[in-house]
Amino acid sequence: MCHRREAFSCRDAFVGLRESFFLSTLDTICCGSIGQTAGSDRNKHLSRELIPGIMMTTEAATIPAGSGKTGQRSPNVNLQSPTQPASPAPTVKASQEHSYSDPTKRSIRWDYTIFFVTLHLLTLLVLMPYFFSWVGVAAFVVGVVVFGQMAIPIGYHRMLSHRSFRSPKWFERTLVTLAMCTAQETPAHWVAWHRMHHSHSDHAEDPHSPRISFMWAHVRWLVHESRTRMATFSMYEKYARDILSDPYYRWIEKLPSPAGMFYLAHAFVYALLAVGISMLVYGNNAEAYRMAASVFVWGVIARTVWVWHITWSVNSITHVFGYRNYQTTDDSRNNWFVSLLTAGEGWHNNHHADPASASVQHRWWEIDPNYYVIRLFGALGLASHIIRPRHVRKSGAES
Ligand SMILES: [Zn+2]
Ligand SMILES: [Zn+2]
Repeated sequence: MCHRREAFSCRDAFVGLRESFFLSTLDTICCGSIGQTAGSDRNKHLSRELIPGIMMTTEAATIPAGSGKTGQRSPNVNLQSPTQPASPAPTVKASQEHSYSDPTKRSIRWDYTIFFVTLHLLTLLVLMPYFFSWVGVAAFVVGVVVFGQMAIPIGYHRMLSHRSFRSPKWFERTLVTLAMCTAQETPAHWVAWHRMHHSHSDHAEDPHSPRISFMWAHVRWLVHESRTRMATFSMYEKYARDILSDPYYRWIEKLPSPAGMFYLAHAFVYALLAVGISMLVYGNNAEAYRMAASVFVWGVIARTVWVWHITWSVNSITHVFGYRNYQTTDDSRNNWFVSLLTAGEGWHNNHHADPASASVQHRWWEIDPNYYVIRLFGALGLASHIIRPRHVRKSGAES
């Protein structure tokens, strides 16, 4: 028992122990000893749960358009086997349906909050003529393609979270490294949260359902304390064990504030390159510094905030607004506006209906540029085992 004057050092010692336990448990996850001790049933359960997309491909299906009312909220519909008739959906008990504890009452994560607010305020600099240049705008657009399309939707989402295609390890890690430059958490963290979302979409365990509130789904879920380190560990064990089997991703996880470190490092490199190239072009003068500042404000700060919001809009807008091709057990929607912003991620009802697929294009006009990029990766030898949509898989077309 600690005396009062020893309390601080005791607390530190406890935190240290807890941290070291957490880090060692990451290794345990990787080695699989927890799963092994729990027996083969446990392993079977984990392998099914680890990749919700694959699990849902084999075990669940949806009711295609025409058999249900599209564009209507139908939260109480259960997933049904494609061989089962579309019988009236059993109603989920009200107590289950509204069993959210109130997560909005949780304490605020001030580090995240201050970071988000600061970057949003700094983004207002784009309104100042001093920081405007077409080179800066070009840096913004290229950054959105690289970080907002290739890194997050293709890398973190379709490649890691759903394993909808495979890449050479060096290329997979390159995409993950780029994703780490978006200040959107580590690969294990992002994947675990996302797989949890698919397993519990718009039900009590969903980390970001708009049924709590639209703003909760968009950003508030990120700035409230969600779980302890131990709870995070068990989440990793259940949803991200395969991610932590990679030594690079495990190393990232062990860094102090890894998302912040990567983000600041990439911003520093960006600034150095912007200043260096500007000075080469304009010489050591005020115009060179103005151009470098323009590239930094548009290409780093504004791009980061933009990529945040288009990513978050998939969690918020596409679970509220849009039409439904499939009556899934969640509120997912297809939304053309979000698809436009995210190069395809807005066909979210299609994605929830068939999460394993690398493509979310289920109708000819549901354009999915992210899938075309994955096909391009395939043509370049950077992607293989690309999973086609279920209706194509069923028709026997090659995948
Ligand atoms: Zn969703
Ligand atoms: Zn997904």
